[in-house]
Amino acid sequence: MPAQSFDMIVIGAGPGGYVCAIRGAQLGLKVAIVEREHMGGICLNWGCIPTKAMLRSAEVFHLMHRAKEFGLSADKVGYDLDAVVKRSRGVAKQLSSGVGHLMKKNKITVIMGEATLPAKGKVGVKTEKGTEELTAKTIVLATGARARELPGLEADGDLVWTYKHALLPPRMPKKLLVIGSGAIGIEFASFYNTLGAETTVVEVMDRILPVEDAEISALAKKQFVKQGMTILEKATVKKLDRAPTGKGGGKITAHIEAGGKTETREFDTVISAVGIVGNVENLGLEGLGVKLDRTHVVTDEYCRTGVEGLYAVGDIAGAPWLAHKASHEGVMVAELVAGGHPHPIKPNSIAGCTYCHPQVASVGLTEEKAKAAGYQVKVGRFPFIGNGKAIALGEPEGMVKTVFDAKTGELLGAHMVGAEVTELIQGYVVGRALETTEEDLMHAVFPHPTLSEMMHEAVLDAYGRALHF
Ligand SMILES: Cc1cc2nc3c(=O)[nH]c(=O)nc-3n(C[C@H](O)[C@H](O)[C@H](O)COP(=O)(O)OP(=O)(O)OC[C@H]3O[C@@H](n4cnc5c(N)ncnc54)[C@H](O)[C@@H]3O)c2cc1C
Repeated sequence: MPAQSFDMIVIGAGPGGYVCAIRGAQLGLKVAIVEREHMGGICLNWGCIPTKAMLRSAEVFHLMHRAKEFGLSADKVGYDLDAVVKRSRGVAKQLSSGVGHLMKKNKITVIMGEATLPAKGKVGVKTEKGTEELTAKTIVLATGARARELPGLEADGDLVWTYKHALLPPRMPKKLLVIGSGAIGIEFASFYNTLGAETTVVEVMDRILPVEDAEISALAKKQFVKQGMTILEKATVKKLDRAPTGKGGGKITAHIEAGGKTETREFDTVISAVGIVGNVENLGLEGLGVKLDRTHVVTDEYCRTGVEGLYAVGDIAGAPWLAHKASHEGVMVAELVAGGHPHPIKPNSIAGCTYCHPQVASVGLTEEKAKAAGYQVKVGRFPFIGNGKAIALGEPEGMVKTVFDAKTGELLGAHMVGAEVTELIQGYVVGRALETTEEDLMHAVFPHPTLSEMMHEAVLDAYGRALHF
């Protein structure tokens, strides 16, 4: 059979890949997408979406426990973990099949199978029926990433879980250890702790959520500890002794080193959330001369790999490992290939969100990083307790913090912890994209009563003009 020929072949149907395919098709390219497992990638099937569905169940459970505070009654509040998981899987399935519909609507050829790159401009696909050969001038790698496994801490799906096991738990943990306090670790810690697991988080860095502004990390930690979590910072899990029952479950003894001393603690479940590694293996990248940095493909600001016609977008192209970064890169590459002149992505303008309770969200430089970069800064802060809507919602804990360049008024960074901040952060993202200054932000009128008023107040505070605190 002669090789099918396309203008663009995308490998991987996660947010980086499927969005790239859609934009390419919109711009008139003949596009094929190859996917080995599931439309929507990790994001829709095992990442962003199913975790948010589970966290929503935890949030409602938490609120039901607080019913009395709101003048309501909710007796015998409980949960059915299987039903929580079933809802999460249902939400993931709905969105994954939605991607299939989008492919059809945009007349994109979908090939289910494992792709390799046998030569420049060629893609081999191993499908159920055999191997197909495809050709295209442009090939976009969007093969994503998977959980990092550390020696001795490898997941077994019984006692030690990755995020996939934690989304399909074989049981409810009673004593849970979460290794790693990035977004993934903290979201699972928050979920299981809210449902009643005695939860310990171990973080090797000097604070949890280490990429966030130090004040935000500290406030989040205070809330987690109040909710009953144990947080061990500057600590490393050296070893896990596993004692399975053979029938599922058992005991794990964790050897945890902190301050030069090693202590042991017992758990029944461990979630390993120590980062991710790019899916770069078995593609044929070495043969093409693609440069790798550890487990990521090295690209320039336009996602070009250095091999003519070969691009890499999303998690395989390195940090930040976020779905919106992946899809934005996908759009940029499609536009470039179709002859457009898209702007490269500014990494500092990509917001990071963690959907724990309380939520955490940020964009741009932390205060520490802004100072280290040589900026003279003006910093504003506004606490949730000073905001009418936060009090009405029963969510008075949290803070909005802004960091401005004292010389130019540029908003260098914004950082938040508290209710709904993952929805609020986009206001500052748009502000930064439009290159607004402190003046513009101060003149903007924010609706009352909203949590967004705190975003206004945190700008005013940076210039000594906060009104409600
Ligand atoms: C638990 C968890 C929670 C997360 N929460 C968030 C969040 O709230 N917000 C956020 O922005 N990000 C979140 N992320 C990160 C987000 O999921 C990723 O950044 C995003 O999925 C990356 O998209 P991608 O297109 O690069 O790759 P992926 O989504 O990983 O998709 C890659 C696809 O390529 C396919 N593939 C791989 N190799 C081949 C091959 N050889 N042939 C054919 N197909 C192949 C895979 O099957 C997969 O479907 C989360 C991640 C996890 C694990």
